[in-house]
Amino acid sequence: MKDIPYKIYLTEQEIPTSWYNMRADMKNKPAPLLHPGTLKPLTFEDMQPIFCDELIRQELDNDTQFIPIPEEVQSFYKMYRPSPLVHAVFLEKALGTPAHIFYKFEGNNTSGSHKLNSAIAQAYYAKKQGLKGVTTETGAGQWGTALSMACSYFGLDLKVFMVKVSYEQKPFRREVMRTYGASVTPSPSMDTAIGRKINEEHPGTTGSLGCAISEAVEVATSTPGYRYELGSVLNQVLLHQSIIGLETKTACDKYGIKPDIIIGCAGGGSNLGGLISPFMGEKLRGEADYRIIAVEPASCPSFTRGKYVYDFADTGKVCPMAKMYTLGNGFIPSANHAGGLRYHGMSSVLSQLYADGYMEAISVEQTSVFAAAEQFARVEGILPAPESSHAIRAAIDEALKCKETGEEKTIIFGLTGTGYFDLKAYEAYNDGTMTDYIPTDEDLAKGFATIPELNL
Ligand SMILES: *Cc1c(COP(=O)(O)O)cnc(C)c1O
Repeated sequence: MKDIPYKIYLTEQEIPTSWYNMRADMKNKPAPLLHPGTLKPLTFEDMQPIFCDELIRQELDNDTQFIPIPEEVQSFYKMYRPSPLVHAVFLEKALGTPAHIFYKFEGNNTSGSHKLNSAIAQAYYAKKQGLKGVTTETGAGQWGTALSMACSYFGLDLKVFMVKVSYEQKPFRREVMRTYGASVTPSPSMDTAIGRKINEEHPGTTGSLGCAISEAVEVATSTPGYRYELGSVLNQVLLHQSIIGLETKTACDKYGIKPDIIIGCAGGGSNLGGLISPFMGEKLRGEADYRIIAVEPASCPSFTRGKYVYDFADTGKVCPMAKMYTLGNGFIPSANHAGGLRYHGMSSVLSQLYADGYMEAISVEQTSVFAAAEQFARVEGILPAPESSHAIRAAIDEALKCKETGEEKTIIFGLTGTGYFDLKAYEAYNDGTMTDYIPTDEDLAKGFATIPELNL
């Protein structure tokens, strides 16, 4: 692999002009979202009060392989794309592995993560529909930051419900959002019926993503000219994130790189779904084979220990139900510094692919993730996000296996973001106070008990 530059940048002309819809190539389509009242598959009309029209069409479209990226979105992408595919030569050397390691770096924008790829698309469709604004939730803050950038670009109002513990412990992202013009409310709040109810039932609660989603949806559906937008899990989000994988594939083809293993961290599944999409497409069509590995925290193990059933997407049970690997809508993960990986469920698309054996999943413990982050930062220079570091952990472990067997495998992983706003987590790791909490079967049983019985 001598002729491969350290950083592979595509030209502006090589940025994809269409998103790829993996669902078009799936024989077993992901299960449809269900109406929480009627338990029937959600129709376009059911979703209209919640989501923007064009985004609903994308959500429901299981057949169109390529969907053109609107020109305004393409030109915004040019501000921070193409993102580099980096040949991790310094990491390879430090590990003494014969493996070839590459990472697709999505942290090169102010929001510090891949979430901007979908945020700008979602803001565009809201603007095009003539809306005044949108609402959303944010956990660690990356999605809220990305959407605040996108909304300010298109002149839309944005109301963010931020999980209370992050609101208090991560004031910096909150201020980035406010700088881009968003209003930020700690969740659960007293501004919504569901927030007041959750506060009453769980006094002193520091919130969860599930609660914040319920609040954001309530405000969107009760305020004229507003809709709700979500940064992960949904089919439309995976569609927009396919830009990551399409660029990666183009770079691989240009330099004759053929990955054996593709690795991504999995929270709601959007970066992983995006990164693998064209490779999974080949796999689904029987044209090529790749090992695909989802990496999740041991403290929130949706794929590895969850159930593949219909569950509510949110704690307040106002959202549609999705069939997915879930720990139960009432599952509240223990304190974990990878905020973006704390969601109880998983993308329906990835859930179906996992159930059908097209991909693997592993879970890793927090301190080992930070050990990998530190090792990576010291040789590759980039301070990785805790979420991304789950993928680094798995990539290093696979490279070390190659060292034992002498195999020259090619590994690609997604480096979804940077960790500058996560220094409290690094502090805990450096001080040796970071803990590894793995939920017991009893802990999980409490979450499973909140899954509705449907027998579907
Ligand atoms: C949100 C986030 C994730 C996890 O979300 P997915 O939808 O699973 O991709 C991973 N990395 C970073 C940096 C994030 O901000």
